[in-house]
Amino acid sequence: MASKKLPQNPQPQEWQASELSQLKIADYKPFNFVDGEGVRNSLYVSGCQFACPGCYNKIAQNFNYGQPYTQELEDQIIADLAEPYVQGLTLLGGEPFLNTQVCLALVRRLRAEFGHTKDVWSWTGYTWDELQQETPDKLTLLSELDVLVDGRFLLAQKDLTLQFRGSANQRIIDVQQSLSQGKVVLWANLIK
Ligand code: SF4
Repeated sequence: MASKKLPQNPQPQEWQASELSQLKIADYKPFNFVDGEGVRNSLYVSGCQFACPGCYNKIAQNFNYGQPYTQELEDQIIADLAEPYVQGLTLLGGEPFLNTQVCLALVRRLRAEFGHTKDVWSWTGYTWDELQQETPDKLTLLSELDVLVDGRFLLAQKDLTLQFRGSANQRIIDVQQSLSQGKVVLWANLIK
């Protein structure tokens, strides 16, 4: 069988977190400098169906990989976020929008404890336009974010010089500006 050359392209609402997520996480990396602006605590959720050739975290495509998301871990993430030098939380994976149960619980807790003094970034294989046609849980998660890095990783457009993304089709989006203007508004601090 020929190897797949391109990522999967789901129909709107074809993939549902309620059916796919096993509520597992592949990794948690506190106090890192690479997953967005400033010092960040990053949660890598398990499971992604896009199957991008060249995926940076292939092992986390499996929804059963890793450890269950626990209250204890959530408490630890919140405690780590309380450090004054931490700018915010990053969600990545795997696919955060196919693990909305975990991501929404954590983001809602962050907002309850810190309001908007901490920001939330998420990566996704969905494009912004695809997300607009997606399930209510995905739209709710999107509405809680500050920054979204969107789109599949495309080997043909790979560019390691880009900020915070691996291929040129991916965008760093200011979520709140985009929602209020009804069109994609790029992150203001974009350099390249
Ligand atoms: S969307 Fe991201 S996590 Fe999913 S397969 Fe593509 S590169 Fe990997």
